[in-house]
Amino acid sequence: MDSIVIDLERDLDELRGYYRSGKTKDVTWRKSQLKGMLSLIKEREGDIFKALKEDLGKHHVEAFRDEVGVLTKSIKFALNGLQGWMSSKKAKLPAVALLSSAVVLPEPLGVVLIISSWNFPFGLCLEPLIGAIAAGNTMVVKPSELAPACSSLLANAIPDYLDNKAVKVVQGGSVVGQRLLQQKWDKIFFTGSSQVGRLVMSEAAKHLTPVTLELGGKCPAVVDSLSWSWDQEAAVNRITGAKFGACAGQACIAVDYILVTKEFTSTLVALMKAKIKDMFGENPRETNSMSRIVNKQHFLRLKRLLSDPNVQKSIVYGGSMDEENLFIEPTILVDPPLDAEIMKEEIFGPFLPIITLNDIKESIEFINSRPKPLAIYAFTKNEALRKRIVSETSSGSVVFNDAIIQYAADNMPFGGVGESGQGKYHGKASFDTFSHYKAVARRSFLTDFWYRSPPWNEYKLLLIEATYNFDYLGMLLVILGLKRSR
Ligand code: NAD
Repeated sequence: MDSIVIDLERDLDELRGYYRSGKTKDVTWRKSQLKGMLSLIKEREGDIFKALKEDLGKHHVEAFRDEVGVLTKSIKFALNGLQGWMSSKKAKLPAVALLSSAVVLPEPLGVVLIISSWNFPFGLCLEPLIGAIAAGNTMVVKPSELAPACSSLLANAIPDYLDNKAVKVVQGGSVVGQRLLQQKWDKIFFTGSSQVGRLVMSEAAKHLTPVTLELGGKCPAVVDSLSWSWDQEAAVNRITGAKFGACAGQACIAVDYILVTKEFTSTLVALMKAKIKDMFGENPRETNSMSRIVNKQHFLRLKRLLSDPNVQKSIVYGGSMDEENLFIEPTILVDPPLDAEIMKEEIFGPFLPIITLNDIKESIEFINSRPKPLAIYAFTKNEALRKRIVSETSSGSVVFNDAIIQYAADNMPFGGVGESGQGKYHGKASFDTFSHYKAVARRSFLTDFWYRSPPWNEYKLLLIEATYNFDYLGMLLVILGLKRSR
């Protein structure tokens, strides 16, 4: 481990020196790195699919939809927007600084650390990297050790496509992560659990390093009693696809549980059962369209969540498991006890509890009595309910009548609030996350307001107030002695 620290310190010195050289601030350099990422993804697509299959059993179409495709789109978006994002914006100074000019300009933060999770191993490393490069930083990236094939592909491929003096990949688990956190960084961008997020924040505090924490939590989906069969089908298709068809529910923005009225529950369950069969066949163990659980430890964690006898009783579909192949069948539960672990901790797997309510409006109170989620989904045509959800709840995002799509949006910031995280990225928000907006003001020597400085008197107070208010008549009245008090 010591050799890692020595290498790390050498690497950090190199990264700092390179940052100070100014090379990474050059727009041509930033563009060349983004294009390098594009080539990496294009030329190594087959290897990416292979690694995702090996680590998570992800189908290559799912891998394209959630990682390769999203990343390609994001890099192109950054390449198109970069020049505009980098430009300074004019600002106005107050009238007490007459004859002045000011701009706000983004500058890179310096040397940044990106620590990421395993469920979308390429997306969660490279999406923040796009922002860090676009903003002109140098960086260390630590992929998750729980997706070893992906981590090793990133470590081997990145030096072939990106400037090695600016981007270093460090592989390892929590011990390496801790060593990294002990270094001084100009920014830490962390994706993972709230437990480790707290450690990240406390280590960062020692150096007053700013952090972005992309954490998780339990994302609810409110399902209103939709009356048209077309709407019901579409809602169920989207929920089922987003839950079981995106890394087998091992996604931070997966639907964690559903809130539905008692009267609509049986319709919903029947439609979901049919849809799961459509998606994964009569024997889902044989499907290659559903990812596997990442490792035995997580498999056993999920098994434990389901093993509670009161939870067992609530299973209405699925529940079978194949430990050898790390496969868990899509599983639906109706009204598991609210104090069971499955309703307290983030599920992060293919279990979908349905909680029944007397009135769908109770969903707002249900959500508000729990930590702020990363996402709230609501399937409803009721405009009044939609308005209430937006105005009376707090979450990283709200999506009506769909799930997970917000991850692929370039024009909406992605991130949590409260226990689901802090800070935002994706699109320009990624650039902003890795930038400092510096205020630069310049004043002419031609004008000088003598009343702006001591010694103080009431006359000066009147003039300063009038100046702040652009009240030129007021100023004249004060000067002429016609206004003597406020
Ligand atoms: P984790 O917190 O265990 O690990 C995340 C990263 O931190 C890994 O790279 C790991 O090696 C590293 N790490 C672990 N312990 C560390 C320590 N003591 N010091 C420094 N680094 C350490 O989380 P995970 O299992 O990888 O991910 C699951 C969690 O991440 C879930 O809660 C999920 O919701 C969340 N997540 C959030 C997002 C998002 O975008 N908001 C995306 C994916 C996952």
